[in-house]
Amino acid sequence: MATTAQPVKNYSDSEIKEKVNQLLLDTGLDGVFPFPAERLANMLGYSSHYFLPSEKTRSISGAVEHNKNRILINKMDPLARQFFTLAHEIGHIVLHKNKGNKIDFRTSLTDTTDPVELEANQFAAELLMPEEEFKKKWKEHKDLELVSAYFGVSIAAAKVRADKLNLKKGFFI
Ligand SMILES: [Zn+2]
Repeated sequence: MATTAQPVKNYSDSEIKEKVNQLLLDTGLDGVFPFPAERLANMLGYSSHYFLPSEKTRSISGAVEHNKNRILINKMDPLARQFFTLAHEIGHIVLHKNKGNKIDFRTSLTDTTDPVELEANQFAAELLMPEEEFKKKWKEHKDLELVSAYFGVSIAAAKVRADKLNLKKGFFI
């Protein structure tokens, strides 16, 4: 078979879920919503800094600098997006630390094809919206806006999670 220069996936979705569950067990941060992501970052030895973007950095939503043990988050992003970015950067810490520092440019949740980015997004979704709790709240509220508010994420992020878990809007009505 011909080899291509395509970037390779490092983890399957179930491996990412396992990583998240192990992390929750190790830290005891299980079952709290919105998830205390800031605390988890601190427990992993990282501090988070919220930067006011300049003309040059306004397209950056976040970054992780392993050599300085810090996460950078764009202060001008909506809060729900900042929260997801923080969880996404924690994903890079847990899954991709050996791949060096990472700068995340603003993209929509669905239009990235880079496996490393997709893995960090999947990690963030698992961390902030665990499957069981998500399904429970979905049944309870039957409303994306209420579900996203409960988990502290954007409606777009909740929608992606619902689609991935095969939950259809109005399915339980
Ligand atoms: Zn990323």
